[in-house]
Amino acid sequence: MDKILRERRERKSLKTNLIIFGPPGAGKGTYTSRLAAILKIASIATGDIFRNEIKRNTILGKKVAPWVSSGELVPDDIVVSVLEKRIKEPSSKKGFILDGYPRTVQQAKALDTMARIDAVIRLIVPEWIIIERLSNRRICSKCGAIYNLRHLKPRIEGVCDKCGCPLYQREDDKPEVIKERLKVYERQTQPLIEYYRRKIPILEVENKQIDAPPEITVEKIMGKLRKTNIIKSIEPQ
Ligand code: ADP
Ligand code: ZN
Repeated sequence: MDKILRERRERKSLKTNLIIFGPPGAGKGTYTSRLAAILKIASIATGDIFRNEIKRNTILGKKVAPWVSSGELVPDDIVVSVLEKRIKEPSSKKGFILDGYPRTVQQAKALDTMARIDAVIRLIVPEWIIIERLSNRRICSKCGAIYNLRHLKPRIEGVCDKCGCPLYQREDDKPEVIKERLKVYERQTQPLIEYYRRKIPILEVENKQIDAPPEITVEKIMGKLRKTNIIKSIEPQ
């Protein structure tokens, strides 16, 4: 057997390491957690890690709070060390899917020294869908449950079904801010796509229907992973 192929097989049987890119409002969080469950790998969202540290008021939380609360990027050295630690945890031993990392080429380069990435999943969603989704998104002020005024309405207007607390709209979910966020996303992601283009498969998955159930998109992603042989050895369970 060809050496590269053998190496791939050996590696495949051990780990599946993925990155997911998608604009805000693409449903990235939902797909990521479902894919992680199907593939039995860890889902790692650096934004969630930071928010959690801030909530628990840890040293790291205090350190990153100024950037996170203003929506600016946390400096690379901090993010890289957080990620490195997380990847080494036992829960990542079968692999991981990264959501929100890398955000800079520097971070991508650091990741290359820690793990071999099998593929990038790139969600493509038209701008009108994103604006529609985000501008109608409402969040529970207490438990964080997410609603949509059109597609996932709370039973009582402005009130959380789960805990009865008031819903609010994120400041950055207002239409004028959404367009700016999309521009930032494009600006950030483009160099990363260029970085990965010649190295690993970039699986583009389109989502052109606003009310498509998440399973459809997850199935599309799984199909592409199978087709590129990325999850071959994980399949029969
Ligand atoms: P969003 O709310 O835009 O989806 P995330 O939840 O991924 O963003 O991240 C929230 C915040 O955490 C970011 O605005 C940034 O301050 C910080 N952050 C998360 N991931 C990274 C990263 N890879 N590099 C730098 N900063 C990050
Ligand atoms: Zn609630």
